[in-house]
Amino acid sequence: MLQVNNPSTGEKIQDLNEDNVDSVRLKFERAKAAQKDWFHVPYLQRAEIIKNFSQKLRENLENLALTLTQEMGKPITQSRHEIQGTLHRIDFFLENTLEMIKDRTVFKTAMVEEKISQEPLGTLANISAWNYPYFVGSNVFVPALLTGNAVLYKPSEFASLSGLRIEKLLISAGVPSDIFTTLIGSASVGKALLNTPIDGVFFTGSFATGSQIKKQLADRMIKTQFELGGKDPIYICEDVDINLTAPEIADGVFYNTGQSCCSVERIYVHESSYNSFIENFMQAVNSFVMGDPMKEDTYLGPITRKAHLDYLENQVKDAQSKGARLLCGGQRVDRPGYFFQPTVFVNVNHSMQLMKEETFGPIIGIQKVKNDEEALHWMNDTHYGLTASIYTNNKKRAISILSEMNTGTVYWNCCDRVSPRLPWSGRNHSGMGTTLSTAGIETFLQPKAWHLKTLKGH
Ligand code: NAD
Repeated sequence: MLQVNNPSTGEKIQDLNEDNVDSVRLKFERAKAAQKDWFHVPYLQRAEIIKNFSQKLRENLENLALTLTQEMGKPITQSRHEIQGTLHRIDFFLENTLEMIKDRTVFKTAMVEEKISQEPLGTLANISAWNYPYFVGSNVFVPALLTGNAVLYKPSEFASLSGLRIEKLLISAGVPSDIFTTLIGSASVGKALLNTPIDGVFFTGSFATGSQIKKQLADRMIKTQFELGGKDPIYICEDVDINLTAPEIADGVFYNTGQSCCSVERIYVHESSYNSFIENFMQAVNSFVMGDPMKEDTYLGPITRKAHLDYLENQVKDAQSKGARLLCGGQRVDRPGYFFQPTVFVNVNHSMQLMKEETFGPIIGIQKVKNDEEALHWMNDTHYGLTASIYTNNKKRAISILSEMNTGTVYWNCCDRVSPRLPWSGRNHSGMGTTLSTAGIETFLQPKAWHLKTLKGH
């Protein structure tokens, strides 16, 4: 049994039947057997089913948001926002997939035709994280289904109720039940899934798990993609209006209680604006309402995983032992549930875990820098490579710095932003492969090269 808890109270919500090696194998075999028929369903029919799914998400939005908030503690306004954003992503996939799957003749004479067709990869494992189950799930299963793949979806053990809701809506929208199947459980179920002869693995989660899975799959010639963590930096130049930017950056740090892969995790501020930035940033942080995530005005909810509270406390202790100065927070909140205070450190440096290892919670370090060279040096001083951001009035300066960042995404005067039209990809410990954009559709296809020759004399 998998026990689902409410992180804002620590109380049990319900028990779920867990999958096991046998049920995983059976679900895989059914999916494998059904996949070819799904591929042969005309594309427009598959697209109609996904449109129905989108409509059902819209109709059930409030209820789905409540479940999400209940099981992972995301404040209710942010849960609604996630599901609304998912609708836009689905629209993008629906608008762009047909063009990607069309046959293309690339050469033709009287005797010879060279053509490229696109085929699905087959039966795929979609192993997902809990922090944005609708976003990170749909980035994979929507284009995978549209392009004719079968999907074995393992939601995180901390977002299983949402995973089951997604499955129910997809099936009621018309996806055959063997084509999208949810597997319930934690790491052991994920491992069992990887032990089946799947045709591809699309993983979203931590670097630690991602690298373990990559090793496990080393001798399998199948497509693998990893969307992993980040230690995303931001640099505030001296030429911006700090009153306006500081609150926006505080939101980039603390949205979803800091539990976003692209949360701002490190702040570098030009020395001329440093004092004013700290003052304005702290004003914004002090205005955040922490509490019951079901309430409309709550901005900071609990930490989803209880065990992560220890991890956050260790980062605090490590930073303090190395000379960091605490401006606010620093500990768990004395109330039921898994709440951690919004925590701001200054006097930080790169000997501290806080500035090097993913935090994934409401803690931030702010470091003063002398100039652009110093900022760039520290921003790139990480194993991660998801996003990087700069705030300046000078576009040329921004582009020059962002071009030097080894990250999959760069932001000028914005942060913590994802667009379905742009590729989402990490570098180094942030992963490999792409979701979203047309590249995030193509990734679920394999090209077939056709050499077609008419016989001489015919
Ligand atoms: P996690 O690595 O603990 O778990 C991810 C998933 O893998 C879960 O479903 C889990 O049950 C499963 N799993 C765990 N061990 C496994 C194993 N050995 N074999 C197969 N499956 C296994 O990560 P998490 O705590 O769920 O998610 C948080 C992490 O995800 C953070 O690092 C965050 O930055 C990252 N993330 C990245 C993106 C992105 O787009 N780059 C998006 C969301 C989250």
